[in-house]
Amino acid sequence: MSHKITLIRGDGSGPELIEQAKRAIDKAMEICGKNIEWEIFDAGADIVAKEGTPLPDYVIDSIKRNKIALKGPVTTPLGKGFRSVNVELRKKLDLYVSLRPCKYYKGIKTRIINPENIDLVIIRENTEDLYAGIEFENNKEETNDLLKFIESKNKGKIRENSAISIKAISEFASKRITKYAFEYAKDNSRKSVTAVTKSNIMKFSDGLFMHAAEEISKIYPEIKFKHKLVDSLCMDLVTIPENYDVLVLPNLYGDIVSDLCAGLIGGLGVAPGANIGENCAVFEAVHGSAPEFKGKNMLNPASLILSGVLMLKFINENKAAEILENAVAKVFEDERYVTFDIAKDPKKVVGTKQMTDAIIREIC
Ligand code: NAD
Repeated sequence: MSHKITLIRGDGSGPELIEQAKRAIDKAMEICGKNIEWEIFDAGADIVAKEGTPLPDYVIDSIKRNKIALKGPVTTPLGKGFRSVNVELRKKLDLYVSLRPCKYYKGIKTRIINPENIDLVIIRENTEDLYAGIEFENNKEETNDLLKFIESKNKGKIRENSAISIKAISEFASKRITKYAFEYAKDNSRKSVTAVTKSNIMKFSDGLFMHAAEEISKIYPEIKFKHKLVDSLCMDLVTIPENYDVLVLPNLYGDIVSDLCAGLIGGLGVAPGANIGENCAVFEAVHGSAPEFKGKNMLNPASLILSGVLMLKFINENKAAEILENAVAKVFEDERYVTFDIAKDPKKVVGTKQMTDAIIREIC
């Protein structure tokens, strides 16, 4: 059986990483007598001059048609230039779930003393919160009008010429994401779901998220529900991470906490991810385009390959997913063919391609 899947190469280090991930995924499928017909596209900074946009409509159309995509990281210019391709994709395809499992694999170098029991799943709301990109630039008339409006409603005085970003949290999106988290917990035999907010300070926005999670939790009495403040959670994650299972968070906290959790299990090079909606799903590494490593054959391909494992499970290619994950786990445990970021011995380091070769040897 063949699957048609959109492949977005990304920019920076994206294309070289995705090339290796594709090789490993194709090999795991081949062993199972299956194959993927890839529709390959570029997106990001490198195509802006030619296409006038970092995310052409034909890329979106391909994902809508195929329903599944594997995506390389894409650079987002800081404070200027085009808006994030990643945010645009999530918005245009309503990919409201960001799924980021953080599981420790034996052999990986990490600063945590007992990492063996870390097996967290981060479920981040992907469509609203400060990440929605609704912003008012400083010194603009509309921004000054907004400042006056806020003051007129007795909501406090904001310093003149401030910039403003809007944090909107809706009941609809909060219930939708927490329901997904509980369904995920149920389907994957997970024991608890922890909703994470700062509801003691942001009583309306984060408070709404917390109450929505509490309400949804009542539908799933078999799954333990907890609420945790985000600052306190960060402390626990670096001291007692094994006490947590599934975490569900609004967009910005989810973004930050997922990088923290990636750090617990060995870093961005080994943390996979997926963005999932009702109709489409886009699988991608947690890390960005790491442009300083472009063309150096140094970065860890595991994050994108493990994102491929999530993708294979999603399309019910469970055998290929298992073969691929086991191969990656064996290469981690073997420790001889790993990239610089997770190698315990800095003298025993290989490149992106050579680590992928080792994974492919394990598949065969
Ligand atoms: P980054 O994740 O690209 O890199 C930060 C550091 O993490 C690197 O310097 C490197 O030391 C390490 N790292 C990242 N990937 C690694 C890998 N595969 N193996 C080993 N080490 C790895 O973060 P950044 O430098 O802050 O962002 C670069 C660009 O990527 C920015 O424009 C950012 O907006 C964008 N970004 C894109 C995505 C995405 O496409 N989903 C996600 C995050 C950041």
